[in-house]
Amino acid sequence: MSGPGNSSNNNNNNNNVLVDPSDPKLRSWVESANDPNGDFPIQNLPYGTLDGAVAVRIGDRALCLRDALDAGLFVKKLASDDGFLAALDVAWLNGLAELEPAQLTMLRQNLAYFFAEGSPVRGKVERLLIDADEPADQPGEDAPFVVGDYTDFYASLHHATNVGSMFRPTNPLLPNWKHVPIGYHGRASSIVPSGTPIVRPKGQTVASDDGPPSFGPAKLMDYELEVGFFVGTGNELGTTIPVADAWRHIFGFCLVNDWSARDVQKWEYQPLGPFLAKNFATTVSPWVVTREALEPFRVPGPPRSSDDPKPLAYLDDANGTNLDITLEVYISSAKMREQGMAPTMVSRGSFKDMFWTPAQMLAHHASNGCNMQIGDLLASGTVSGATKDSRGCLLERTWRGTEPITLGDGTERKFLQDGDEVVMRGYCQKPGYPRIGFGECRGTIVAARA
Ligand code: CA
Repeated sequence: MSGPGNSSNNNNNNNNVLVDPSDPKLRSWVESANDPNGDFPIQNLPYGTLDGAVAVRIGDRALCLRDALDAGLFVKKLASDDGFLAALDVAWLNGLAELEPAQLTMLRQNLAYFFAEGSPVRGKVERLLIDADEPADQPGEDAPFVVGDYTDFYASLHHATNVGSMFRPTNPLLPNWKHVPIGYHGRASSIVPSGTPIVRPKGQTVASDDGPPSFGPAKLMDYELEVGFFVGTGNELGTTIPVADAWRHIFGFCLVNDWSARDVQKWEYQPLGPFLAKNFATTVSPWVVTREALEPFRVPGPPRSSDDPKPLAYLDDANGTNLDITLEVYISSAKMREQGMAPTMVSRGSFKDMFWTPAQMLAHHASNGCNMQIGDLLASGTVSGATKDSRGCLLERTWRGTEPITLGDGTERKFLQDGDEVVMRGYCQKPGYPRIGFGECRGTIVAARA
């Protein structure tokens, strides 16, 4: 049996207490981590917060890093590091994201040592493990990051073309789209953790294109399936992040639901883009999957057709930072949940279809000297593929309500109704490597407030 070494008391000898978690053959003594259909094998080790503490997840269990520190489990290089100690004193991942990439690698390898099959510290670690799964019907309490700034891109060619053709039939894709990663500044204050109920927003809507408007609960509630990433190392104001360096500025990835009120959006979006149709709530999944864990699933940028322009040099992502993440959306009505019915899958696609890559989005954002900061959240925009069943929002999936979908209880949906729960899932899979998953990003629509 390939154990991680048998030194049980020499914590200063890094060689014995660091294990490379990217080894696809590595297994854990935490049995649920070895489930081939699970999201959290020892190769993943995503970070989140539980009960106000920084934690790492493995299988269906989690370990609060402060508990491991108090038990004397970390290597001296971490345990004596002021930055690491400070990172564990906050209830979010911002401090962790501030660590140097080399420290984060060491932490990841030290954690892999804790959890590896045959680990000499199993007994000590096992006593500290807690249940990682929150009850599905409880509002989430812990958001992974304090997000300073949130930017939402529009990086799927299929999504941009589909939505454009609905809103501007004669002119679906604007001439700038294939040259510049389009985005807008979102609102950080309304980013909520998975499980938080989403109150149906009120807003201005019009019955016909020219108005007059009325004010009331939005009728055309939608989700947008997106992948987000948190900035680790930022850049000083007035400096940039070269596209070739952008990948290592990313701390990790999560799933994002950019809730959208389509009737509000239609009336307000010109001339300056989305505003109140979007900023009432954005849900993020709780476990942040690190850049390192996703490295085996990096793929080149999407193939561009011969008609497509070459990216300008500052956007040439030659290293390829697209990710092959399978993404799924499920909906269940309140009635379905009461009756114990499984949610209905409404789409499945892949993040690898995105026209613009994470490195391109980040490099572009900083290309004018805008300073990116630790914990900033950048989201990809709706992830849609070429086929109908890979369209990442109801606007596209039901083609503006003209092709309703049928849920498991036999009811039809054009847009979301009160009581509907949307669950997003994401995972990476390839032969010979354990599945790396994101868990769930979950939210239920509740009636507008009186
Ligand atoms: Ca969006």
